[in-house]
Amino acid sequence: MSGVTAAVEIAEVGRQVILVEEKPYLGGNVIKMNNYFPKLCPPSCGLEINFRRIRQNSRIKCFTSTTVKEISGEINNFRVKLLHKPNFINNNCTACGNCTEVCPEERPNEFDYGFSKTKAIYLPHEMAFPMKYSLDVKYCKKESCNKCVEVCDYDAINLSAKDEEETIEASSVIIATGWKNPDAAAIKNLGYKDYKNVITNVEFERLIDANGPGGDKLLKPSDGKEPKEIAFVQCAGSRDENYLPYCSAVCCSASLKHALSIQNKYPDSKVKIFYIDLRVSGRNEDFLRKVEENKNIELIKGKVAKITESEDKSKLVVEAEDMLESRKIKSEADLVVLATGITPNQYNLNIYRSGEGFISDKQKDGIYPVACCKRPMDVSSSVKDATAAALKSIQLTS
Ligand SMILES: Cc1cc2nc3c(=O)[nH]c(=O)nc-3n(C[C@H](O)[C@H](O)[C@H](O)COP(=O)(O)OP(=O)(O)OC[C@H]3O[C@@H](n4cnc5c(N)ncnc54)[C@H](O)[C@@H]3O)c2cc1C
Repeated sequence: MSGVTAAVEIAEVGRQVILVEEKPYLGGNVIKMNNYFPKLCPPSCGLEINFRRIRQNSRIKCFTSTTVKEISGEINNFRVKLLHKPNFINNNCTACGNCTEVCPEERPNEFDYGFSKTKAIYLPHEMAFPMKYSLDVKYCKKESCNKCVEVCDYDAINLSAKDEEETIEASSVIIATGWKNPDAAAIKNLGYKDYKNVITNVEFERLIDANGPGGDKLLKPSDGKEPKEIAFVQCAGSRDENYLPYCSAVCCSASLKHALSIQNKYPDSKVKIFYIDLRVSGRNEDFLRKVEENKNIELIKGKVAKITESEDKSKLVVEAEDMLESRKIKSEADLVVLATGITPNQYNLNIYRSGEGFISDKQKDGIYPVACCKRPMDVSSSVKDATAAALKSIQLTS
């Protein structure tokens, strides 16, 4: 969201922009969400407008499946070395889907965090921009199969494509490489590795999404049945010296949003949110109020000590301290969602990072990091930060 925003803002004042994305599609983490606070609209709302702005603006050159290998030089004279992953599917692709129909190989769908499968040649998701198919070399049998090439009427598939390097010149560089969830398996007491029905909050975004693995149903990973009792564990590994010592700023609002989405779909379900402090700001206060008014959503102030399974293995058991009642509680759930927070994406470039791995605001002139690669923030703040960086880049470069 932040990279796309900066790109369109800069291009619309007449500058040339090169947008580099490592995935085959734009939209980052936002495009994977079911809906987004504060308005709870689908992410396509904000992104679709930006994709249209990109489509209409010939000043933006967009490279997907591409990473940056090296940045050298200085303001007004940077050289940026790009690595383009093999371009197996070219822009002749009309997304007709004939290739997928004949493809015999399957792969775990990374867009759904492996909860669903696609063919080895696949459309990354319904809203993909650019709208073209992609190929997973790990699962494709290439020329020994060749079925997709034979069925493609548009000469869009080249199975022998190779990596390509290219060096471009730029007067400034905006870094908008965002975030990922930390490894939930590292938090041993919360059972992510041990129990299929303990999932992370980003996985939940896909599971509750109507375009996700369960269609319009929320299904448990263990047995494909709908959960009736769902627990959210806030600060799972966050604000904890052993894992992430900081607050990721968005997880409380995200879990409140998730609780309301569950209640929308299943008004009879029971939701419990275990929290240390509820940190919601601005317009998100409104849906904290909505949650507080909902009698099927319980807010429990208390850190979760551990998650285990009931004796008959039919339920998960969340053990916590109910701080307001001064007692230990054991609460059963069919699905547990861990709010695991935000860590910066890592890669090997010559840029300054802070102790937590976030990219520092202080870089050499002409390099501007924005949004969640610097610190956790919501979409609205990310967009503002990106617009500010776009302005700096326009003002300070020739
Ligand atoms: C569970 C959860 C729910 C959330 N829900 C909401 C919500 O409802 N509302 C809201 O306002 N905020 C929400 N947020 C926060 C929101 O996700 C962030 O504000 C937003 O993703 C920030 O966008 P970004 O552009 O900084 O980063 P990202 O969305 O992470 O995008 C970064 C992009 O950079 C690409 N990239 C990374 N490294 C490289 C590289 N080396 N080379 C090329 N490309 C690279 C990535 O592939 C990605 O496309 C939520 C966060 C979480 C954890």
